[in-house]
Amino acid sequence: MSTIEHNSKEHNGEDHNYEERIVVPTHQHHHTTPDTHTEPPDRRKTRHAHSISLIPVTLGVLGILIIGGLGALYLYGERHISSLSSELVASRDAQQELNESFEIQLRTITDALREMQLENAELLATLEDEQRSVARSLERELERVTDTVGDLERLTRTDPRLLQKYSSVFFLNEHYEPERLVEVPSRWIYDESRVQRFHAEAWPFLERLLRAAQRDNVRLYVASGYRSFTEQSNIKTGYTVRYGAGTANTFSADQGYSEHQLGTAVDFTTEGLNGGLDGFEETDAYQWLLRNAHNHGFILSYPPGNEYFIFEPWHWRFVGVRLARDLNRRGEFFYDWSQRDIDKYLIYLFDR
Ligand SMILES: [Zn+2]
Repeated sequence: MSTIEHNSKEHNGEDHNYEERIVVPTHQHHHTTPDTHTEPPDRRKTRHAHSISLIPVTLGVLGILIIGGLGALYLYGERHISSLSSELVASRDAQQELNESFEIQLRTITDALREMQLENAELLATLEDEQRSVARSLERELERVTDTVGDLERLTRTDPRLLQKYSSVFFLNEHYEPERLVEVPSRWIYDESRVQRFHAEAWPFLERLLRAAQRDNVRLYVASGYRSFTEQSNIKTGYTVRYGAGTANTFSADQGYSEHQLGTAVDFTTEGLNGGLDGFEETDAYQWLLRNAHNHGFILSYPPGNEYFIFEPWHWRFVGVRLARDLNRRGEFFYDWSQRDIDKYLIYLFDR
C-alpha cells in the first residue's frame, strides 16, 4: 500500500523523488515484487529526471550568458553612454564657451557699430553744418563780391567830376560835355521860350524836388540848367555888356560856371522875380529849398558868407541824397569839405 502511496506521491511532485530513493533501501523486501512492476515507471522517472535536469542548466547557462551578455552590454553601454555624456557635456561646455565668446564678440561688434553709427551721424551733422556754413559764407562772399563789382561798376560809370569842387582857379575843361542831357519840361521853366537841359541821371531828382515844392504850394522854376562853355561865355558877355564887367563878374555866373557846365547845377527863380534871380533869398521858395533840397540830393553851393564866391541863393547843385543829407545834418557846406571826403560819396551819387 506504501507503493501506491509512493506512486501517488511520485506523481504528485518532483520534490518527493529524492525521498523515494532514500526510502527504497529500508523497505527492500517489500519492494521485490513491486519493483518489477514499478520498473518502467522508474526508468521513465530516470529519463524524465535526466531531461528535466538539463533544462535548468541550459536555462541557467543561457541565463548566465544572457545576464553576462546583458551585463557586458550594460557595462559597455553604460561606459559608452557615460563617455558619450561626458563628450556631450564637454561639447556643451565648448558650445557654451563658443556661444559666450560669440556673444561677447557680437556685443563688441554691435557696440563698435553703434559707436560708428553715432560717429557717422555726428560726422554727417558736422559735415552738413560745415556745408551750410560754407554755402552761407560763399553766398555772403558772392554778395560782397557782387556788391563790390557793382560798386566798382558804378564807380567807373560815375563821372568823378560830378563831385569835383570848382573854384575861380580850378575850372572844368572847356570841352567837357555831360554824357547825356534831357530837356526840362516847359511846365518847370519860367521863360517857356527858352530850352533848359539837365543831366539825364540827375534830372529825376530835380523833378521830384520841383513836384515836392509844388505840393507845398511853392512855385519853383528852372531859370538856368546846363550851360555849355560857349553859352556861359555868351551870357557873361551879355551881362558884361548890360551891366559892365564888374557887375557881370559878381552877379552872373562866373562862380557856378563849371557846375552849370556839368549839367547838375540849377538856378531857380520863383513868382514875383520876373524870371530873374535877384531877391531870391527873400522868397518862400528859398526857405523851402533850405528845408527840403537836401532830401532830393541838392545843396546850396555858395551860402551866405562863404569864402569862395558871393552868396548865390538861387544856385543849387546836385551831389546825391546821401552827401546832401550828411552835409545838412552837420550844418556844413560842400566847399568846406575836403575833396577826399567828398569823393567817398561818389558811389552813392545816384542812390535814392
Ligand atoms: Zn548858377
